[in-house]
Amino acid sequence: MSWTVGRVKITKIVELAMEGGTRFILPQATYDAVQQMPWLIPAFATEEGKLKMAVQSFVVETPTRRILVDTCIGNDKQGRNVPTWNNLHKPFLEDMAKAGYPAESIDTVLCTHLHVDHVGWNTKLVDGKWVPSFPQARYVFGKTEYEYWSQHAPTPSHAAVFEDSIKPVMEAGLVDLIPSDHKLTDEITMIPTPGHSPGHMSIHIRSDGKEALLTGDAAHHPVQMTHLDWSSNADSDKAMSAKSRETLFSRFADTPTLVIGGHYDAGYIKRDGSVFKYYAA
Ligand SMILES: [Zn+2]
Repeated sequence: MSWTVGRVKITKIVELAMEGGTRFILPQATYDAVQQMPWLIPAFATEEGKLKMAVQSFVVETPTRRILVDTCIGNDKQGRNVPTWNNLHKPFLEDMAKAGYPAESIDTVLCTHLHVDHVGWNTKLVDGKWVPSFPQARYVFGKTEYEYWSQHAPTPSHAAVFEDSIKPVMEAGLVDLIPSDHKLTDEITMIPTPGHSPGHMSIHIRSDGKEALLTGDAAHHPVQMTHLDWSSNADSDKAMSAKSRETLFSRFADTPTLVIGGHYDAGYIKRDGSVFKYYAA
């Protein structure tokens, strides 16, 4: 699936799609609570109230760059906090090639943050060693984010992610560290949205008068547009993540900006009193 924003093309590459089984990340989004938000159904939730979510990446093609935004979970990884994310064997690189984007054609990998499901395909296992999956690319990470994870490993699974998916590209000399409000190209500017992780960034795309927003994990699902305070279990600072959502959604609500989530599908944000709703694109 792809979208055109001026002269920028955004293409979604899905690694895993799910319906339900998302309570571990958004515990307040019970089936009953979700059914109270009928505007979510059927695009973002099922009739039964199960949330639709995905682990996905985006290729953002500008007139000058071919950028992979976030890199999912990856194959052959071990020690993940979600047991079913260990030892995956998904055709992610093949799917990218089929969409017209072979790995060697990617010139930039841009991670909104450095969590397990956004850095996995940074590397792949070759002869027992983790090597960069995109050897022609500069890997662009937030400086705040990188510095945090290079110094903190709250759990063994965080340490495993850093060891197999971040350290090898740093050691290969492929990483550029950017401030959280960095302008990457004429079309792409980062927006600081801390809270889910210390240096989390969302991505603002502008071209020929058209706009798009890749929220990353500033929100995990549109339920958090009505319930700004339903912070995810994975948020490092739940109050700050709620504040970042309010600021971000206020800015883009009631505009023609195409919004696409790190884990949910494309839509438009509408203000609804002091909160928001979301409509499928
Ligand atoms: Zn995520």
